[in-house]
Amino acid sequence: MAFEGLSNRLQETIKKITGKGKVSEQDVKTMAREVRLALLEADVNFKVVRSFINDIKERAIGQEVMESLTPGQQVIKIVQEELTNLMGGEQSKIAVSDRPPTVIMMSGLQGAGKTTTTGKLANLLRKQYNKSPLLVACDIYRPAAIKQLQTLGKQLDMPVFEMGTDVSPVEISKKAIEYAKQEHHDYVLIDTAGRLHVDDTLMQELEDVKAEVKPDEIFLVVDAMTGQDAVNVAESFNEHLDITGVVLTKLDGDTRGGAALSIKAVTDTPIKFIGMGEKLDELEEFHPERMASRILG
Ligand code: GDP
Repeated sequence: MAFEGLSNRLQETIKKITGKGKVSEQDVKTMAREVRLALLEADVNFKVVRSFINDIKERAIGQEVMESLTPGQQVIKIVQEELTNLMGGEQSKIAVSDRPPTVIMMSGLQGAGKTTTTGKLANLLRKQYNKSPLLVACDIYRPAAIKQLQTLGKQLDMPVFEMGTDVSPVEISKKAIEYAKQEHHDYVLIDTAGRLHVDDTLMQELEDVKAEVKPDEIFLVVDAMTGQDAVNVAESFNEHLDITGVVLTKLDGDTRGGAALSIKAVTDTPIKFIGMGEKLDELEEFHPERMASRILG
């Protein structure tokens, strides 16, 4: 399970300070050092770690904590709050356009889980929000990708808009939105092409689709297992596309969790959803506070 190592280490560290009737500056420093190591080991970006530790120290060494009746618990509360802030603070909800359909553009590198996530998101929108999404196949370079989306559509009993591989993604998206309006779909999920690496051709194509459809959201789907690489990918997609949210997939796997803990701080883009398995109902809305509680136990 994701975060296992981090979670164990942080809980161990916290245990030492929880019950203390008095917390000295030295206690806080020792704890901060242990938290720092735990985060670095979990593959959290080192700059993110530095600023996180400074924030904790600044707050925990304050007068308020030292003089409180339960200083140990105060310190833990600070760690929990800062961990929540690090992951984005408040939960960031999916956009709803006041002029339907709401258009969501899905982007990401090949293999990150983009197409699967498109299906999962459609499922979640229908189940949780009672919406009627239209899935759009825009990966014209891989007929297999179109097929994959159609298979998902069948499983979900949801329509998939496609125009084969000879029409440009810009044209497909445009036609898809017209179709969605006609058929009263309130969400349009555009599954764009992915590549093995970030490259100019891919970015140009995504920028063209963005310019045409003016999406309400541009989600980047990244694989949590790739650690800091996921953060780097998010940075470059954000530079080109100004993404509005990240979907972190494969958090059910054995990831150390560094990506989840660094992405918001590095890209200033919220994590909106997390993938917790291969099945179509294994996508969850991301709640920073709940995740922080889960990590700290
Ligand atoms: P794409 O190339 O980005 O469209 O990636 P796919 O949607 O084809 O997914 C690649 C692989 O990752 C597939 O085998 C998916 O089942 C798997 N996958 C996607 N999301 C998750 C997830 O949250 N957890 C796990 N364990 N596997 C996932």
